[in-house]
Amino acid sequence: MTTPVTENPTIFGKILAGQIPCKKVYEDADVLAFHDINPVAEVHFLIIPKKYIPTLADIDASDTALMGKMLSLVPALAKEQGLTGGFRTAINTGRLGGQEVYHLHIHVFGNRPGGEPLRSLVGKA
Ligand code: AMP
Repeated sequence: MTTPVTENPTIFGKILAGQIPCKKVYEDADVLAFHDINPVAEVHFLIIPKKYIPTLADIDASDTALMGKMLSLVPALAKEQGLTGGFRTAINTGRLGGQEVYHLHIHVFGNRPGGEPLRSLVGKA
């Protein structure tokens, strides 16, 4: 069952409720995507479920289709935003995972073609 957005205490809940604006990238019945207010790359947007799920650690089997849909949207939206040369995705989870907004979100970010590649984070000390 979808938790009403009025019970969502986060800033993303306010965006979903239309109480604060966002620069929308995509919306359907299940998800909203919008530009990050503090981008770390030339293009940086977030994909969130409309269902209130605080963190990736809170999903269960009933969220499988929703999570698949969100991840499946990434390449099409990234391409639409000009990220044809590649992009990075991130889901920060919990305090030690660096999560600041406790409404599950996928970060998608990257430079436009011709920009410097993002430095790899994986495998570096
Ligand atoms: P995280 O650390 O993974 O929880 O990331 C939260 C992200 O939300 C950060 O990149 C913020 O810049 C972004 N953010 C916070 N408030 C807003 C807002 N009102 N509109 C768009 N992005 C936001």
